[in-house]
Amino acid sequence: MIRARVLLWLTLVVAPAVGCIAWMRRVVLPTDAGTTVLTGPRVVPEARGEVHTRVEAGQTISEILARFGAPTDDVVAIVHPIHDLSRIRAGRTVTFGYLRGVPHAVSFAYAIDEDEDRSVRAEWTEAGGWTARIEEVAYDHVPEARVFSVETCLWDAALQAGLRPRDITRISEVFQWEVDFNTEIDRGDTFTLVADGLNRDGGFVKIGEIHAIRLLNRGRDRTAIRHVHPDGSVDFYAPDGTAHRRPFLRSPLAFSRVTSGFSLRRFHPVLKVPRPHYGTDFAAPTGTPVRAVSDGVVTFAQNAGGHGLRVVLRHEGGYESGYSHLSRILVRRGARVSQGDVVGKVGSTGLSTGPHCHYELKLNGRYIDPMKARLPVVEPLPEAERPAFEAERDRWMPWIEAGGPPLSTASAAPGSATSPEGDAAERPGDAPAGSLEG
Ligand SMILES: [Zn+2]
Repeated sequence: MIRARVLLWLTLVVAPAVGCIAWMRRVVLPTDAGTTVLTGPRVVPEARGEVHTRVEAGQTISEILARFGAPTDDVVAIVHPIHDLSRIRAGRTVTFGYLRGVPHAVSFAYAIDEDEDRSVRAEWTEAGGWTARIEEVAYDHVPEARVFSVETCLWDAALQAGLRPRDITRISEVFQWEVDFNTEIDRGDTFTLVADGLNRDGGFVKIGEIHAIRLLNRGRDRTAIRHVHPDGSVDFYAPDGTAHRRPFLRSPLAFSRVTSGFSLRRFHPVLKVPRPHYGTDFAAPTGTPVRAVSDGVVTFAQNAGGHGLRVVLRHEGGYESGYSHLSRILVRRGARVSQGDVVGKVGSTGLSTGPHCHYELKLNGRYIDPMKARLPVVEPLPEAERPAFEAERDRWMPWIEAGGPPLSTASAAPGSATSPEGDAAERPGDAPAGSLEG
């Protein structure tokens, strides 16, 4: 009797379980075991479903594909014409799909952009082997406004308002010619950001295209409207069409703090004697990118004693800029650089007490204070592009003024949570913009 029960138990419970485990192992392990190295934790996929993993530092695509039982050569070959998988990035998502009864992964996807909005996807078809294509995440674009004030620091305020660090960088880039985000953003400064909210399945995911930004800073209204030039390049202009772009950045570092300003008599921190300080020191971690403040030519790029590793650029109009104490130099003497190009990395070489960038500016051979100098301005918006710019301006300025969808255009944003009557109205906001664009 007992024996019969044990037998029954073995038959009904243990055997199917063992079979199930064996089946799952089969799914994971490729049929051609000789070419496969199975590393890391075992992955047990659903009978039909997907397994997500992340590229680890130093991993190759072959290792990942083999680990998930995908035929490495087939997948790499089919994907190659649309994406080179030999340079995959650590941290990116890789997805494998499985089907019951098929002893290898039947799909493979690898995110190819930083936001993971685009992936390269390869799929196995029983008839024709593997096929590949680029796949893009589809978002609903819903214009929205976000208003936030700096209470302790810009980052806290912006992150609380739903921005990502990358969005903060984008905003700082719009104003980088007139406001130094390192030193000139104060408590009480207020941002109004009008941008597309990118939504998916009805939920906000992230901020997309920026249409307009207002920064109330030190009692000044700095408003920037996005404009796309006919060649596709983008600039931001003030509502009157004057440029936000300038020939000189206000600072060679995107984010840092000034630790020592321009001074004709300063107590030198290393030499312990008074000496003039012909530049501005920006403290930042070793390795922080140092940007060319303007287009120019590299006239010096090597070790310079007390200045340590140093880069000097010559610019139009008799200007020269210098960057010292670098940990690395990334340009060669004689090379042309564009504004914003990274010329080196912050370090502490030469006479220096800690990682910082000593930044100097000369005009016609004489040192000037880079933080106070009145630098040249660039041309305003081209006249021919003015109508298109003004259409954008007239569309988005009411959002800036209202800090949200203005009443007259609230119904122009279908699906927006802020326009409950949206579907009923005639979308009056779209009409003037549309007629101007056409
Ligand atoms: Zn210095």
